[in-house]
Amino acid sequence: MRKINKSYGNHLVLKNINLDFPEKKVTVLVGPSGSGKSTILRSLNLLETPESGEYLFDDLIIDFTKGVDKKELSYVRQKTGMVFQNYNLFPHFSVLGNIIEGPTQVLKIDKKAAIENAKKILKKIGLEAKIDNYPEELSGGQAQRVAIARSLAMNPEYILLDEPTSALDPELELEVLQVLLQLAKDGQSMVIVTHNMSFAQQVADKIVFVEDGNIVYDGAPDLFFKDNKNLRITKFLSSMV
Ligand code: ADP
Ligand code: MG
Repeated sequence: MRKINKSYGNHLVLKNINLDFPEKKVTVLVGPSGSGKSTILRSLNLLETPESGEYLFDDLIIDFTKGVDKKELSYVRQKTGMVFQNYNLFPHFSVLGNIIEGPTQVLKIDKKAAIENAKKILKKIGLEAKIDNYPEELSGGQAQRVAIARSLAMNPEYILLDEPTSALDPELELEVLQVLLQLAKDGQSMVIVTHNMSFAQQVADKIVFVEDGNIVYDGAPDLFFKDNKNLRITKFLSSMV
């Protein structure tokens, strides 16, 4: 992201921000509520369109002052997969149905191959036994793991996760965090918004601290969590424990 500005009405919520999201790494966005974290994540998926600035992805350069065309939108949507706080599973589809819907309908992958791939992913996240269950039969932690599986099935370069465990009780949160830690280990590129600072510290290759639409910190987790001399950040961290 280069010099990104985004407003809602006359409220400027992203203020000329520059950010890199390294490949095969985990970038974690933290900061107070309302600071602009979701807006950054949604802009990465083009669910929001900034007014100005550039979005560079591989050889693609989107200049937001000129809007976003169909080709750019489909490129970015194919390269990024979004996982929401409330899973957003299709309630009338089974777990398998949820996972193969995108690959068969959007990517036009043969159904048999899509099912094989879905099984592989379910095995990886430990949910093979739930393949024929419906979302209402799952715990919150299982539902969120299925949402992650559904995203993986589209084979995006980046998975974007907006507070993926905020709706979960602590004991269910852990199973989701473990899946994300494993994906990180496997080199999956991710951008994660979270309020769980111990998870952030464990999983992040890079921490971004957002406050009031500005990037206050962009760098190594160690420096952020341990050797920080920025008063706003130390205040934020002490409020989180
Ligand atoms: P965070 O995810 O860090 O809590 P957001 O990116 O959701 O912050 O929001 C940043 C600011 O933009 C907040 O002041 C929020 O109220 C405002 N905002 C977010 N979405 C909308 C919207 N759809 N319409 C108007 N204001 C919005
Ligand atoms: Mg948010």
